[in-house]
Amino acid sequence: MFSISQEVISGSQLKSELTDHKAGALVIFEGMVRNHNQGLGVKSLEYQVYHELALKEGTKILQEARDKFNLHEVRAVHREGHLSLGDVAVWIGATASHRDDAFKATRFIIDEIKHRLPVWKKEHYLQAEAKWVFCKDHHHHVHFEEADFYKKQAIVVNQNKLKEARVLIVGLGGLGCPASVNLALAGVGKLRLVDYDRISFDNLHRQFLYRPNHVGELKSKIASIILKEMNPFIEVESIENFFHPQQLEEIDLVIDGTDNMKTKYQIHDACLKYRLPLVSAGLFKDHAQMRTLIPGNGCWRCLVHEVPQDALLGNCNDFGTTGAWVNTVGSLLSSEAIELLQKGKNSTSESVLHLNLKDFSSFKIKKAKNENCLYCQGDFQIEDSSYEVLSSSDSDLLDIRNLSDEQVFHSIKNRDKVVLCCHRGHRSLKLTQMLRAQGHETVYSLRGGVKTE
Ligand SMILES: [Zn+2]
Repeated sequence: MFSISQEVISGSQLKSELTDHKAGALVIFEGMVRNHNQGLGVKSLEYQVYHELALKEGTKILQEARDKFNLHEVRAVHREGHLSLGDVAVWIGATASHRDDAFKATRFIIDEIKHRLPVWKKEHYLQAEAKWVFCKDHHHHVHFEEADFYKKQAIVVNQNKLKEARVLIVGLGGLGCPASVNLALAGVGKLRLVDYDRISFDNLHRQFLYRPNHVGELKSKIASIILKEMNPFIEVESIENFFHPQQLEEIDLVIDGTDNMKTKYQIHDACLKYRLPLVSAGLFKDHAQMRTLIPGNGCWRCLVHEVPQDALLGNCNDFGTTGAWVNTVGSLLSSEAIELLQKGKNSTSESVLHLNLKDFSSFKIKKAKNENCLYCQGDFQIEDSSYEVLSSSDSDLLDIRNLSDEQVFHSIKNRDKVVLCCHRGHRSLKLTQMLRAQGHETVYSLRGGVKTE
């Protein structure tokens, strides 16, 4: 059995699990954290493990050992997280009828683990900055420096500015996949990913971070695992929920990769309120639109206050798109974000870009700024969506499609928690907002409605 442990490995406990009176030999290997490496004094180290793959590969290695050698029992544990000097990093125990099999199997397993397990090691030194160490095998320690990762890019960007940046990406779909990959690989120090949605099979054609075996999993969770694996030098945080203004805390720039107007305007309003720059794009078939909001420099509501209806723009799910188009626009989002982080402005901060993805024709429309815009002056309330829910038990649900407002008000009385649901979730949200304003704090709205068509 192979496992990964976040806790200190207890050799005696593991040994007791291998007690086997038929075995004539038990061989135990313990790899420990030592106090030096390549001439530097080491004080502690960190392991980052790509779980899914490590468990699969570790289990495979133990099976290969069983196939090769005549073993009774075999067990291996690899640590992850922060380890102190002397801590056991890898523990392997094998029992066999004869000592030769147990010795050889243990040696085989540790060598294979060193070769094949997707594990990143960071060493903390006494007198030098901590760095990631990549052990290709146990004979040749190959050190890769963080600076080497960005060597080619550092010619064209200020790497320190990217390292210090904290970027929030809302929506990990067709736009968010390329945008997040590019920013992760570019070395943006901290990425916060927000998406409540799960991976679906008919989105895989454009959302290239995900595989068929991820269907049903949460997008932001899987994306964060994969991005951390692609670049171990950055931090990636996953929030599996709707966008909420609280998520803007300790963020320098926001990328909007969502596909509906309501959320886009929620993000826009929150960025305006908290004075954060926002890069946003939308797609309708092969036509893309991209714009950057820099608070103080006009907003999307300067001329038209109302949120445009989705039906006027359409989205990828309803009108279709191809990965080649949407990934191009997602890449442009990341390019505009990098430019903004470097210089405080970019090519869409003054005007809105319209791009035809088939014939590459484009035009820009200069943004209009209304000096009397209440939104620009911060004189508005952000729409609160914290009382929307994605699912509900039958006992909480109140289908309001055939009920009048009065009937709904009457029905919710004396109920602890009630989730209103309608066709698409618009009317239920409106009623929820009204009821909340009247003090009914346990009323929720089912996001997206029941959509039976
Ligand atoms: Zn404005």
